[in-house]
Amino acid sequence: MEFKKLFIPGPTQVHPDVLAKMATPMIGHRSKDASELQKRITQKMQNLMFTKNKIALSTSSGTGLMEGAIRGATAKRAIVFSVGDFGNRWADLAKLNDVPVDLHVEEPGNPTMPKTVDDYLKTGKYDVVTITHNETSTGIMNPVESISEIIKKYPDVLWLVDCVSSLGGAKVEVDKLGIDICITSSQKALALPPGLALCSVSPKAEERFTKVGNKGYYLDLKNIIKYIDKKDHQYSSTPSLSHMFALDFQLDRIEKEGIENRFIRHIEMAEFMYEWANTYFKTFAKPGFESLTVTCINNTRNFNFSELNKELGNRGMQISNGYGDLKDKTFRIAHMGELNMADMKEVTGAIEDILKLK
Ligand SMILES: *Cc1c(COP(=O)(O)O)cnc(C)c1O
Repeated sequence: MEFKKLFIPGPTQVHPDVLAKMATPMIGHRSKDASELQKRITQKMQNLMFTKNKIALSTSSGTGLMEGAIRGATAKRAIVFSVGDFGNRWADLAKLNDVPVDLHVEEPGNPTMPKTVDDYLKTGKYDVVTITHNETSTGIMNPVESISEIIKKYPDVLWLVDCVSSLGGAKVEVDKLGIDICITSSQKALALPPGLALCSVSPKAEERFTKVGNKGYYLDLKNIIKYIDKKDHQYSSTPSLSHMFALDFQLDRIEKEGIENRFIRHIEMAEFMYEWANTYFKTFAKPGFESLTVTCINNTRNFNFSELNKELGNRGMQISNGYGDLKDKTFRIAHMGELNMADMKEVTGAIEDILKLK
């Protein structure tokens, strides 16, 4: 197998030292060491998420916790706001779990705006709202600060946010925003191998779980939290301890870089990519709502994407085609996790060279 430097929006590059931690010898998942490991991860995740809420891990990818969250949190009806395929996924998860749901899809390229959220919540029909913070399929970052001002007017509504491809790269202040369940995956901006999902859970969400009937077993957040509480930071089933070792170490690396420095690095890469994309092509997202971790670019030059990616592959790099309906119309370059400005200059320079843009 040939390993390329990944500029795809997950899985992302994993630092060799982090990868090595996945090979840590096993410990018992009921041991004191396992509890201590979970506690350390919780504290560091709380710092990274700017929250005092409980932290739950799930040995699944992020979609698992999205499923558990919308199923466990909806007593009445959920409203899902979508700006791309990952937004739509919330609605699919709800429907397949018999959770009453409505879906609002924006025009392509447009973000979810606070007024739209207000118009739905005003009806009083909903007790859950879902937002995709960073829509990886379209490169749109939704304005969660202004959306939060609206949601705060409705104290009986729980706010679920998909931060799968933003958390650890872009600043998400969970408590200040009032996010009830904030979900992320290991393999995006946190830069770990895929297989672990994490979320924060507010006291309001915990209270709601007691009012919802059938929540399943494995992804039931009430059950997960119960074990963390009662069994001193353990899980009802065996978690991926390998991921937990690697995450514990990676969170130390993140703190060493400096959380704020990490966000600045991501902003710098995003600004560079925005400039570059609009110099030679055009970004897909409405101006002002571009993602800080992945740039989705309209293929205005109609080049053959597979050929480009093949040639990039010969040079040891890989980018991503469009997602879903946008497969052939756009392409995507991620700038998250371990990547830095030198990497972004390397990949864009190679594309300029291959497509003879200069
Ligand atoms: C990758 C991604 C998901 C799905 O996460 P998995 O970990 O693959 O289940 C959901 N939402 C967004 C925004 C994503 O980028």
